[in-house]
Amino acid sequence: MPLFYLPSGYNTSGVILGIDLGGTKSAALVLHEDGTVVRRRAAPTPATADAEGLFAFLLALAQDVRGMETLTGVGVSAGAPADAANGLVFAAPNLPGWGTAGFPLAARLSEALGLPVKLENDADATALAEWRFGAGQGTRNMAFLTVGTGIGSGLILNGALHRGRRGAGGEVGHIAIAHGPGARPCACGLRGCLEAYASGPSVTKIAQELGWQGEASGRAVVEGARAGDAACRAALEQAAEHLGAALATLAMLLDLERIVLGTLAVHAADLLLPRISQSLRARAWPRLTEGLEVVPAALGDRAQDLAALCAYTGSSRIEGGGQAR
Ligand SMILES: [Zn+2]
Repeated sequence: MPLFYLPSGYNTSGVILGIDLGGTKSAALVLHEDGTVVRRRAAPTPATADAEGLFAFLLALAQDVRGMETLTGVGVSAGAPADAANGLVFAAPNLPGWGTAGFPLAARLSEALGLPVKLENDADATALAEWRFGAGQGTRNMAFLTVGTGIGSGLILNGALHRGRRGAGGEVGHIAIAHGPGARPCACGLRGCLEAYASGPSVTKIAQELGWQGEASGRAVVEGARAGDAACRAALEQAAEHLGAALATLAMLLDLERIVLGTLAVHAADLLLPRISQSLRARAWPRLTEGLEVVPAALGDRAQDLAALCAYTGSSRIEGGGQAR
């Protein structure tokens, strides 16, 4: 049996080696279970490498950061589609090298490092991190959405990360919020996805279609809206309206306590959150929206490091309480 299959009820303690695999840069770090980082190394991800090249790169980063501490295990927060139960990563548009069959990253790292390895998709790992250390503390039912280049999400239900049959669930960014021939095409191949209206690049594109001539970036559109540019304001209002509609679906389906929104929703919380909240409340029953909070993510720069930690520790430390550390 490979080392990465942990016996159920396995109790973690001590020091973890975390790996944050990103599309442009990656990091390896040694950190304590309370989130204190001991050492960290980061390097640009060789995005065009094949699976063996990507593996060799991550292993070298991990070996470089490893010191004299006794390590409990390794957590990998993967910016790629992942099968957490089987420790596999799959090709992503910005990291095609992993292939479509699934690369056994957890088993290979476990073999090379001599430690148990657990792997999560980065949106799920970040949802765990926000739940345990950030804006989701104290809840048992929350949704996390990152509103960045894409819209990733993770769901905490009944005090544990919801993985679904293959760990592929919780794709809130690809819920259809528009229908018919006029629905915008999405990078995933479908039409009318939330991501095609509310991700950073989508908001930028919509602002340009409405006449924005400034810099083509989500941040520039936010600045434009703050300066009173009508196209930027309209693009952000549209995004907020659609985000609210998707969140209403989540609220009706899951009866959540809190929804935590990252990236663009943090930079532009003042512009987006009131409108998102209004749109959500207009589309869901009061019984399911009363007391439901929509809040910006709280971890900032620490999110990736803590996501790698939580990829290893999972829900195990706080099951049954949802209690803040
Ligand atoms: Zn899509």
